Amino acid sequence: MSNLEDLYREIILDHYRSPRNRGELASPPAHRVEGFNPLCGDEVTVYLDVNDGVLTDIKLTGHGCSISQSSSSLMSTAVKGKPLEDVRATIEAFKELMTAHETTTDEEERDATNLRTFGELAALAGVVKFPVRIKCATLAWNTLQQGLQELAS
Ligand code: ZN
Repeated sequence: MSNLEDLYREIILDHYRSPRNRGELASPPAHRVEGFNPLCGDEVTVYLDVNDGVLTDIKLTGHGCSISQSSSSLMSTAVKGKPLEDVRATIEAFKELMTAHETTTDEEERDATNLRTFGELAALAGVVKFPVRIKCATLAWNTLQQGLQELAS
């Protein structure tokens, strides 16, 4: 077991036990969107405040497994206060991370690249090895994406 795997496990547990940006925003004006992962029973509700093309605030409630809840906490820290174009790019990059196929590239090299690109979010990269958990990890992200689409329409 590598030190990096220990670090990642610690990050996931930390965000599960002490979720960031937990709670609700008054809706309206905040946009409220719900997500559900029937495979695991995970639920997440995302509250979005968007002003002048910036995601000025985000809050989440929900319950479910440690992967789904830590992923929503990690997501909130990654996107809060960011322009929507950056938020969308981060969503796309994360979903790409979650669909990455096993490659022959050096594992340490790949881990280092993920850490550089994603920071704490890279902690979730290991989920790819467990296909049944990918929907847990992407639940909050798909819910956020749906909320942004609803706001744009
Ligand atoms: Zn789950």
